[in-house]
Amino acid sequence: MKGDEVPVTAPPRATRKVPSVVIVNTGDGKGKSTAAFGTALRAVARGWKVCVVQFIKSDRWKVGERDVATRLGIEWWTVGDGFTWDSDNMERTEAIAREAWRVAKDKIASGDYGLVVLDEVTYPMTWGWIPVDQVVEAIRLRPPTVNVIATGRDAPPELVELADTVSEVRSVKHAFDNGVRAIRGIDF
Ligand code: ATP
Ligand code: MG
Repeated sequence: MKGDEVPVTAPPRATRKVPSVVIVNTGDGKGKSTAAFGTALRAVARGWKVCVVQFIKSDRWKVGERDVATRLGIEWWTVGDGFTWDSDNMERTEAIAREAWRVAKDKIASGDYGLVVLDEVTYPMTWGWIPVDQVVEAIRLRPPTVNVIATGRDAPPELVELADTVSEVRSVKHAFDNGVRAIRGIDF
């Protein structure tokens, strides 16, 4: 078959237009959050209002992308106080995750945003701090033009079911496995 021939089975023609979609980036490999932030960049490029809520990352462990995003007009909420295994106060971590969800729920419901990113939201869901059905309901009942991206390992089946697009990033290998520390400019 010559390179310029049309493939025998063409993909189905996309004819439906929807006002918004729900995207889930899950799996154990690197790239879930960065893919979400890359999409946020696209949204900004189209003049949308964008909001990022981080459920886990620390304010002390300051991610570089937050500064850039803020300069671009992205609203960025970091209320997490670090990964749980770093935390000496579990209750505080849980309370902060719940507070993050309260913020995120309002942002989604406001209808003010073209895109809301719920970064690392699966973890507090898995740990039972935020009820899965509440998150799923809030996303399902969102104003029609609000796109939502959720990231984190082990996305609950209910969230996967609701989503339009789900990508599972599989770790083939990671530098961390060889003892390489997180790198500024690459990992945060
Ligand atoms: P990134 O923010 O780089 O896109 P991610 O969102 O896919 O990563 P997280 O589980 O949120 O993955 O990872 C948080 C941090 O851990 C990041 O610094 C990331 O580079 C690193 N990381 C991601 N995947 C792995 C892995 N499989 N093993 C070790 N570290 C990882
Ligand atoms: Mg992440």
